[in-house]
Amino acid sequence: MKSSDQAIVRFAPSPTGYLHIGGARTCLFNWLYARHTKGKFILRIEDTDLARSKQEYLDEILESIKWLGMDWDEIYYQSKRFDLYRDYAQKLVDAGRAYRKDDAVFFKYDFANTNVEIDDLIRGKIVFNELPKEEEVIIKKDGTPTYNFSCCIDDALMEMSLVIRGEDHISNTPKQILMYKALGFSVPQFAHVPLIMSEEGGRMSKRYGATSIREYKEDGYLAEAIANYLLLLSWSPGGNREIITLAEAKDIFEIKKVNKTAAAFSMDKLNWMNSEYIKKKSPEEYLSLVEEYLKGKNFLPDNIDKEYAKKVFLLFKDRLSKLSDLFVRARFCFYDDYTYDEDTKEILQRNLSKEIKVLAEKFSALANFNHEEVEKEFRKTATDLGLKTKELVHPVRVALSGKKVGPSLFETMEVLGRERVVAMLKRLIDYWGANV
Ligand code: GLU
Repeated sequence: MKSSDQAIVRFAPSPTGYLHIGGARTCLFNWLYARHTKGKFILRIEDTDLARSKQEYLDEILESIKWLGMDWDEIYYQSKRFDLYRDYAQKLVDAGRAYRKDDAVFFKYDFANTNVEIDDLIRGKIVFNELPKEEEVIIKKDGTPTYNFSCCIDDALMEMSLVIRGEDHISNTPKQILMYKALGFSVPQFAHVPLIMSEEGGRMSKRYGATSIREYKEDGYLAEAIANYLLLLSWSPGGNREIITLAEAKDIFEIKKVNKTAAAFSMDKLNWMNSEYIKKKSPEEYLSLVEEYLKGKNFLPDNIDKEYAKKVFLLFKDRLSKLSDLFVRARFCFYDDYTYDEDTKEILQRNLSKEIKVLAEKFSALANFNHEEVEKEFRKTATDLGLKTKELVHPVRVALSGKKVGPSLFETMEVLGRERVVAMLKRLIDYWGANV
């Protein structure tokens, strides 16, 4: 037996598309609320639209929910419950609250009701003065139920204590309430979560970046960072705290503390949060994330030395916004066909062929090519040549990576190894010979 403060809530996705960030956040709030109250979290697949529902979407939705760190206690498929909805429609017909016409069943709204109101846990009291005037199809000609009807029956039969869903469903709420009443069911409580807006205002759309969870995963965002960021969009753990895991959030989450106003999605903030989560990983955890992430991505050259690749990835660990940054930032460690970025041209204007040649020779003669020795030799050579260290650092970085910025130069050199470093220095000398 569940005690009355143990919530029963549900997330009710329609498998007509991938799980999008708004849906994921609704799912998170439901899950947190259920886990906080030690109640029950139900997944209800609203696959009544047989033409638009796809197995591929369903698989991805379930996969994304698990990936984000959530689980469910029960799962139902509305497509397996069509008989039930038809039975209830028949009951309404028998009671004179619905009628059949053209092979469909229509619900008669109770026009005696002048208004309907709810005490929304997030938005407070909402009074619906404009009640539906039209009669509404509840069972279509093909025998499938329409959303408001199947939703209402399932929320009642599954004994929801609270319906947490997106604000875009507020307009459906009075219709559903009239159906609950006609069916003699008690009406659950509601909590409508505000929409997620783009930074430019307006609803999130492809135009402003990825909208589905799988795209973020593909792009190398960590599940914990996405979950944390989505939570923070409309809820705050208090103080100025921003980094919070689901396990921690479930102890303190309160649905009443969810903001009423629409939240703006900030890619910069998400990137910052993701980089924090990457930094927090141990080297081993990070490497296995990278390994998993790179599967099927065809990034590494064939027969690459695994130990070398690991050292390269670790060089970048604390500098990534997302794992896919490696494709651009670490490419020079695996391929030597890179060109010098446009913004390095200024650095390359000064021809330091002679000096770099001396450096390459010193490196070739160095007993130990580790970063301490490399750094010592580098600084000494610069001084001997009458250069400031940084005057040599900039062109050498460009030589080795084609880029203006990157991880610590000396550690990078140790990882790349003497042979590669010397070859790349010569390549820059050749470039100067040909271009400057
Ligand atoms: N299947 C609906 C949707 O995906 C669920 C709405 C609800 O939670 O009532 O928007």
